[in-house]
Amino acid sequence: MRQPPAPAAFLDRDGVINEERHYVHRIEDFVLLPGATAGMQRLQEAGYRLVVVTNQAGIGRGLYSEDDFARLTQHMLALLRADAVEVSGVYHCPHHPEAQDPRYRLDCDCRKPAPGLLLRAGRALGLDLGRSVLVGDKRSDLQAGRAAGLARCVLVASGHAITEHDRAHADHSCADLAAAARWLTGAGDDVTETGFTQGQA
Ligand SMILES: [Mg+2]
Ligand SMILES: [Zn+2]
Repeated sequence: MRQPPAPAAFLDRDGVINEERHYVHRIEDFVLLPGATAGMQRLQEAGYRLVVVTNQAGIGRGLYSEDDFARLTQHMLALLRADAVEVSGVYHCPHHPEAQDPRYRLDCDCRKPAPGLLLRAGRALGLDLGRSVLVGDKRSDLQAGRAAGLARCVLVASGHAITEHDRAHADHSCADLAAAARWLTGAGDDVTETGFTQGQA
């Protein structure tokens, strides 16, 4: 029996869940950001299924392997599960138009800002994309969310440096995933807000 479509909270990984570092792929470089698990707990309690969507061009560039990525993913899921956070899916794009490995050298439809990862997750998990949301730390995350037709896209300042121009692509911008989850679940803003802009329809 197929479940009725559920809304998802699509989460970028680096800079949203864990500290942004250059091509994170080793377990010792994976450091959860403060408030990340609290934010994810809040989102799942509000009925969102949690789906991680992450560009992993380091695979195509030969910096690390699919196995390295899978190992780090298992580590992340175990850390989160210990805090009662259940992730429904982790979707990654290993491609890059200039990848060394020809298997990964393509202009794919899944590297954000393209919406392929979100659309694939939507089909596989039976998600209601029109009621789904996204939290990212880059403009390309927001663009992927828009292209997939999501309800709300939130920009957080816990990863990459963000500009006013980036914020103009967001429905809301705030400090981190915990603050984003409060806003998305109607729990109000907090004093650490970094700004608010209404995204274009
Ligand atoms: Mg990121
Ligand atoms: Zn791709």
